[in-house]
Amino acid sequence: MKKGGVKLKLFSFSGGIHPPDKKNKTENKAIEIMKAPKLLYISLLQHIGSPLDELVTKGDEVKKGQKIAESKAFLSVPVHSPVSGKVIKIETHPFAVNGKIKTIVIENDEKEEWVELKKNPDYNKLSGEQLLDIIKENGIVGQGGAAFPTWIKLNPPKDVKIDTLIINAAECEPYLNADNRLMIEEPVKIVEGIKIILKILGIEKAVIGIENNKNEAYMKLSKAIKAEKNISIALLKTKYPQGGEKQLIKAILDREVPSKNLPSKVGVVVQNVGTAKVIYDAVVEGIPLIERVLTVSGNGVSEPKNLLVKIGTKFEEILNYAKVNREITQKIISGGPMMGIAQYTEDVPVIKGTSGILAFTKEELNEYEAKSCISCGKCVNVCPMNLLPLMFAKLGRFKKWEEMGEYNLLDCIECGSCAYICPSNRPLTEAIKIGKSKLRTMNRK
Ligand code: SF4
Ligand code: SF4
Repeated sequence: MKKGGVKLKLFSFSGGIHPPDKKNKTENKAIEIMKAPKLLYISLLQHIGSPLDELVTKGDEVKKGQKIAESKAFLSVPVHSPVSGKVIKIETHPFAVNGKIKTIVIENDEKEEWVELKKNPDYNKLSGEQLLDIIKENGIVGQGGAAFPTWIKLNPPKDVKIDTLIINAAECEPYLNADNRLMIEEPVKIVEGIKIILKILGIEKAVIGIENNKNEAYMKLSKAIKAEKNISIALLKTKYPQGGEKQLIKAILDREVPSKNLPSKVGVVVQNVGTAKVIYDAVVEGIPLIERVLTVSGNGVSEPKNLLVKIGTKFEEILNYAKVNREITQKIISGGPMMGIAQYTEDVPVIKGTSGILAFTKEELNEYEAKSCISCGKCVNVCPMNLLPLMFAKLGRFKKWEEMGEYNLLDCIECGSCAYICPSNRPLTEAIKIGKSKLRTMNRK
């Protein structure tokens, strides 16, 4: 990418892969607002952490933005009603992450009656603690997909010294354009959100990391930060998984987060660019997290789109809206193709971390029979965490979980690069996911 005829420096990390980005179908499509459906299904676990307890019962009238579930557990944030209407049941319902979960079903009365919103246009008058409390109470979680409660991430231990905020605007997963479109359409709100985060952390340096395939977003953000001396942009090489936290930190600051440590260990907090936008909404406008932008794509949909949808909208309704062809669709994925989760039903609702819905046809699936490892080393070359993925498949086959741990399995960020590059289609991702789950269970005992 060039600016004013000058070639800009590109930041990157070692390892990684270059899958076809497949973003062209939706990168120029403005975010469409999808009308809220008649029924909304609010899962009572929308973040990494503890499930929530409902605050409403069947028959209750609710307003748009009303808190309807929360938990006393530390690792949690509440959820809010995306519409005004009536609670018609509380049931166990399919869940986009895994299996089923307790879910509040709300019938939309289409009156759009809001709770009273507490706006803070002059947020500089508020303390860091007050801002954190607003972010927690409005149910903000990371918008990149992981859905970690934001108030916890912005509240590192007092003995940890943070000096830099990195805004993850890489959106390196193929197909997805939700962050890209937000940057193009809402750059000023994103920048205000970044300023709020800087105030909370009490620091003066933010760097937005954006891949060099997002020219329009880069131009819009550059304009929006023109008067901001504390915010800069680092242009990143388009490579997967450029949006991994440790990869961003290495690429932008040349700092290595040690094994088994968090970014705060090297003085950094990383937040997704979409999270900055919803922080602005919560603090300045008083709006809780009741809707999100996602990309609907894949060859199975006739009208790929970027949509603003209410949390609780079923995948089935979104796929119908994007005119899915069910005869040719073979797989539905929540999220991107590399780290997303395959769905066994369209009955699952959107949750706060749903960044995309992909409908894949046979040609888009890479389902080949697994063959023996030929020790080519390609998986090792691409691993951004410098691991030995071939060992995970070998040891996983014989259930040698502890030995997998000795090969630093828990440092794996589950990016899927090794499985993507493997010429023998070894079941690397599967072995890694099972091994990590077994190791974590063993470590808890
Ligand atoms: S071992 Fe983990 S971090 Fe390394 S390439 Fe495979 S999935 Fe990614
Ligand atoms: S890429 Fe596949 S075949 Fe090559 S060493 Fe790794 S596991 Fe073996």
